[in-house]
Amino acid sequence: MFRTIKDLHLKHKKVLVRVDFNVPQKANGAIADDTRIKAALPTINYLRKQKCIVILMTHLGRPNGVDETLRLDSIAKHLSKLLNHHVTKCDDVIGSEVEEKVHSLKEGDVCLLENLRFYPEEEQNDDKFAHALADLAQIYINDAFSVSHRSHASVDAITHYLPSAAGFQLQKEIETIDKLLHNPKHPFIAIMGGVKVSDKIEVIRHLLKKVDAILIGGAMMYTFFKALGLETGTSKVEVDKLVIARQLLKQAHGKLILPLDCVIAKTPDDKGTVTHVTHLAKDVMGLDIGPDTVAIYQEILKNAKTVLWNGPMGMFEKKQFAKGTMALAETISKSKAVSIIGGGDTADAVKGFKFTHVSTGGGASLDFFAGKTLPGIKALEENVHCVKHRRFPSH
Ligand code: ADP
Ligand code: MG
Repeated sequence: MFRTIKDLHLKHKKVLVRVDFNVPQKANGAIADDTRIKAALPTINYLRKQKCIVILMTHLGRPNGVDETLRLDSIAKHLSKLLNHHVTKCDDVIGSEVEEKVHSLKEGDVCLLENLRFYPEEEQNDDKFAHALADLAQIYINDAFSVSHRSHASVDAITHYLPSAAGFQLQKEIETIDKLLHNPKHPFIAIMGGVKVSDKIEVIRHLLKKVDAILIGGAMMYTFFKALGLETGTSKVEVDKLVIARQLLKQAHGKLILPLDCVIAKTPDDKGTVTHVTHLAKDVMGLDIGPDTVAIYQEILKNAKTVLWNGPMGMFEKKQFAKGTMALAETISKSKAVSIIGGGDTADAVKGFKFTHVSTGGGASLDFFAGKTLPGIKALEENVHCVKHRRFPSH
């Protein structure tokens, strides 16, 4: 087990917090969706109440070195408004300017370091870089579930240098998903969709051991159909995954449920028509599950006690291919089942419906569903045994 924020003596300490503020922004820099920023507020507010100096760090986008368009100034401004307290923005991640700014902060103050990925050392999990970050503070908190599947310096190597613990958001994600996977109420139904089977093979394999059925949708269904020898037209098929798709179907012993009908069109801009999955013409693509499939899936979901969903049922960004996804979202949200949504696009698709838990982690929740140990979590667990620490800076 790892420690959580409440297990450490935090009063009056300088605390370095890894958050995930990798948020979508509009052309003028305004934040288009601040869900991820809001998710970190309980931890930030708790630390401020403990009279800590709060030093936040995040990445934004995929910069190659310093990139003026990926600076964090507008995020700092947005956070200032949410906290109703000025957030000091540092224009670098490490170095003397940062040290001076951190030094000028008072108890309860908050600062935001510059984009971590301006330094390639971040993604290289570089020890020296982690050490320099650690020198800014006395305690490290990871409150970024969505990056905890990456062995990056601010997630992994940093725990070699500071007493470390999970923040509230990370703790909630792990506890909720862990409980669900280890002790689910049955019937436990998983729904898997989205673009690629290849992204989700390990998740399907792992879940097959736990669930009563996996309902398949999205583009990935056509890889299964192709594997079964059906005509799939111009649908998205991963031809190099046909052997694995056949293996999965065999391993599933009937637990993998494939659609009966689908919505097809010549292009995603056209109106869709419904057809049986065995009747696809060569020049059409499948873009959603059909109404008969929706009805069957809804029947199964109505009896479920636990539902885990990753991957939209169709190209939901186009209204004419969103019906399958919306219909299932409505059924689940009205049911009494414990429901967990994982995956960035799935979370976007089902916004507005009520679920037990919508994970903030895309790739991280997939790795977790696949039964993998996340490097960020492992690092926190190992940190409990302080002997491993090479050095704790004294302040
Ligand atoms: P998540 O981010 O939730 O893990 P994915 O990234 O795997 O989900 O898949 C989401 C994408 O899958 C969406 O952009 C959606 O348009 C696409 N998609 C779903 N069904 C189809 C389909 N039949 N054909 C093409 N794209 C599809
Ligand atoms: Mg996605």
